[in-house]
This record gives sequence, structure tokens and C-alpha cells, in this order.
Amino acid sequence: MRLVMIGGSDAGISAALRARELDPGAQVTVVAADAYPNFSICGIPYYVSGEVIHWRNLAHRTAADLEATGMRLRLDTTVRRIDVAARKLALAGPDGAEDVLGYDKLIVGTGAVPIRPPIGGLAGPDALGPGDGVHLLHSMGDTFAVMRTLEQASPATVVIVGAGYIGLEMADALTTRGLSVIQMEQLPEVLPTVDPALGALVRAELETHGVEVLTGTTAQQITRAGSSETGRLRVEATAGDGTPITRTADMVLVVVGVRPDTELAANAGATLGFKNAIVVDRQMRTGLPDVFAAGDCVITHHRLLGETYLPLGTTAHKQGRVAGENALGGHREFAGSLGTQVVKIFDQAAARTGLRDHEASPARFDPVTVQSEADDHKAYYPGSHRITMRVTGDRATGRLLGLQLFGHKNAEIAKRIDIAAAAIFHGMTIDAVSDLDLSYTPPLGSPWEAVQMGTQAWIRATWRH
Ligand SMILES: Cc1cc2nc3c(=O)[nH]c(=O)nc-3n(C[C@H](O)[C@H](O)[C@H](O)COP(=O)(O)OP(=O)(O)OC[C@H]3O[C@@H](n4cnc5c(N)ncnc54)[C@H](O)[C@@H]3O)c2cc1C
Repeated sequence: MRLVMIGGSDAGISAALRARELDPGAQVTVVAADAYPNFSICGIPYYVSGEVIHWRNLAHRTAADLEATGMRLRLDTTVRRIDVAARKLALAGPDGAEDVLGYDKLIVGTGAVPIRPPIGGLAGPDALGPGDGVHLLHSMGDTFAVMRTLEQASPATVVIVGAGYIGLEMADALTTRGLSVIQMEQLPEVLPTVDPALGALVRAELETHGVEVLTGTTAQQITRAGSSETGRLRVEATAGDGTPITRTADMVLVVVGVRPDTELAANAGATLGFKNAIVVDRQMRTGLPDVFAAGDCVITHHRLLGETYLPLGTTAHKQGRVAGENALGGHREFAGSLGTQVVKIFDQAAARTGLRDHEASPARFDPVTVQSEADDHKAYYPGSHRITMRVTGDRATGRLLGLQLFGHKNAEIAKRIDIAAAAIFHGMTIDAVSDLDLSYTPPLGSPWEAVQMGTQAWIRATWRH
């Protein structure tokens, strides 16, 4: 059995590892356009900040570790075309040499590419790029370009366009590196994946650490600054009411999300769906004979929303594993995402899982969100922190639909959101969360776990006599 994965990141490598684990006789080849297989791109901000001292440390496994599992790596090799009928791939190797690779089963894991928003100066023949200090950020290649700017041009100031989780992580990273950060976000609040009430707490944390936060501000144009200006780049933006806003900086980072990289699969005949991601079933089959796909290039099956697009590393790992198993003849299904995610912003963390009010379809749910606070552990024991929680539930059935958390980075925000993720995954009611037998000792928790206090606050607030 010749199994080929296109893409050497979370999805492609997870598929390859699973296949080799299940069938040590399978001939598994990973073709990757870059030279960084199995790198944790999620760790890029911590290399940029200096907390991870060498980029090689970002590798989940080295190329040698991967090859030791019996898989073959073809790096710096781009798949130009998939010939589904002949089960062959047209390749361009490191030196551009063309080659053909046959397969019995194929897994497409081409991932995503950063969105290039319609900001003047980012496209066209005179577009500004890394050499000018203007960067997008997704791959290790992008990271090396950012590091070259940081090390060679020693920028003092940066404008970050976008305040999603990557924009926030980079604000933290670049501040830690000593740069002065201006963050522009066109929506009314930062971190729009949580409710504005929690976004405002994130903004306060950014401002505490000296970040200038400009929300409701749309970047329109990036140009080289005049010689009399302080930075080497000028960013012109507009506020919601049309008021012009201009900032100068030595560096600009544009991080406004990703779009699925699906041209290769689409040219081979794959159907595209939500946000132009490849349509796959729960078994990660594309509908093309013997072609599977996984990761940021495919639609996401969400347990409460149905078909959506939610590119996350955790999901890419799971989908890749499912695809790897099924390519060998298995029938495993991707169980679905809840969009569970967490981000550290300086000394705080914000997390979410499941749905917020406006995301819960009125046809299916009657959502209510209740905000409350609790201590992460007994306040009499030193070092306790308040956690702000927003619990979303269905008024009609009492079912837990979502949880958002904000609190200190040492307040176990990530693991606490996972309690709710597990509860929502299994369709639990909010009331039943109180019955969960969770751990307690005063330095680490309370007899009622903070999340249980949040769900009890929801019940009190929605109680009908
Ligand atoms: C800065 C940053 C921080 C992040 N933080 C988190 C986080 O904290 N938590 C989280 O869950 N997610 C996070 N993510 C998202 C996560 O990294 C992605 O969801 C995940 O890496 C997607 O994996 P993938 O394998 O689908 O695709 P990608 O990582 O996009 O990789 C695609 C692969 O396909 C290859 N490829 C593409 N086209 C071809 C071709 N034609 N021929 C050969 N090879 C090709 C590429 O070279 C690459 O190897 C972060 C992302 C970034 C950029």
C-alpha cells in the first residue's frame, strides 16, 4: 500500500504517524513544500519573543525522529498537480526538477495561507514586503523573515493589524522583545472570538503592558514614511466614523486570519464548501476516489453548528489521525469540533468552547449567557486569582452550550475550559455539571470547582419560580 500525504504539518504528519503505527508495512511518503516537517507553528510567537531560544526547538519531532518511524519525507517538494484517474502526483523538487509520484491512497493536508486584506501597499507590483519590514505570519519561512527584520533593522515600534489570537500573541511577544506595539482592530473589541465583556478585560491587559489599542479602526494603506517621520512605515487607517488615524512604525505585521489552501485539490476535482474549504465527510473522504483531506484545508464538522470552518491545530491533529486510519481501510469518524481554544495575553489567559449567544441558532436553541466570578482556589491560600466566566445555556432544555473564561495565566484557564468542552461534547445539562466529581485541595481549587460555581450562577439567574 503506497500512502502519500501532501503537507508536512499537523494534519499530514498525524496521518502519516497513525498509518505507520497501524501498519508498519505501509509505504508512507510525506511531500512537503517546505523544509520544516512537524514544526509547531503555534509556538512561533514564543520563538519571536525569545522565550524559545532556537527555532529548531519548535519541532514536535525532528526529521530523523519522523524517518525513524518508517515514513519517507520529500521536503522542499511541491505537488503541482493531482491526477486522480492515474493516481499520480506531479512534483517539483528542491532544485525545480519535475518528478512523478504514484499513490494508492492520498491525504491532502495543504493547510491554510494567511489572508492578505485589501490594504493599499500589500499587493501589486510595488507591494511592500519583508524587506520593507511589512510581514504576514503563518509559516516558518514567514518567521525567519520576521526575525531578519527584528535582528537586522532593530525596529523600535510595530503596528500589528489584527487583534485575533495570533495578533494578541504577537503583541505580547514583541512587547517582551522590547518593541513598542500599536494594535489595530477593525471590530469594536479585541479578541472577537469571545464576548466584548471579556474582550475588554483582554484589552485592559494589553494596555497595562503599554500596547496602544485602536479598536474600530480599519487599516487602509501602508506606505514608506517620509525621512522626517520617526518610523520607516506609515499606516493610514479610519475609525468607524470615518476619522483618519495615522501611525508610524518601523515594522508592520498583518495577521487577520487564514483561508484554506485548496487550489490543488479543487483543480483535481474536489468539491469546495464553507469558506472554500474542501468538503469532506466525517471519515475525511473528499468524494474523489482514494483521496482524503484533513486540517486547515477542509471544512470543520462542529458538534453544535454542523458544517463550518474552524482552523485549529488540535482539530488538524485529530482529522489527520482519522484520515491516516481510514486510508488504510478503517472507518473512524472525526467526532466534531467545539472550537475549544485558549490564548495567553501577557499575565492573563482567555478561553472559549462551544457557542456564544449569537452563534446558537434560534431554530435550535434559546440561548442565555450569565456572567459570574469565582476564585481559582481558596482565597485564604496565597496567590489566588479571580476568574471571570460567561456560561451559555439553552433556556428550554438547560443544556450547556458554551463557556468563556478570563483569568490569570496560572489560574488553570486552559484546563478549566476543558471541563466545559467535555461536558458539552457529551450533551450535559448545566445542572448536571454540579454533579461532576472534580478534584479539590485549597491551594489548587475549591470544594465547588470555579466552573461549577459559574454553572450554578447560570441556574440561579435563569431560575423560574
Ligand atoms: C502563529 C500561529 C499560532 C497558532 N497557535 C495555535 C494554537 O495555539 N492552538 C491551535 O489549536 N492552533 C494554533 N494555530 C493554528 C495551527 O497551527 C493550524 O491549525 C495547524 O498548523 C494546521 O495544520 P495543517 O497541517 O492543516 O496545515 P498547515 O500548518 O498550514 O501546513 C500545510 C502544509 O502543507 C504544505 N503544502 C501546502 N501546499 C503544498 C503543495 N502543493 N505541495 C506540498 N506541500 C504543500 C506546507 O508546506 C505545509 O507543510 C496557530 C497558527 C499560527 C500561524
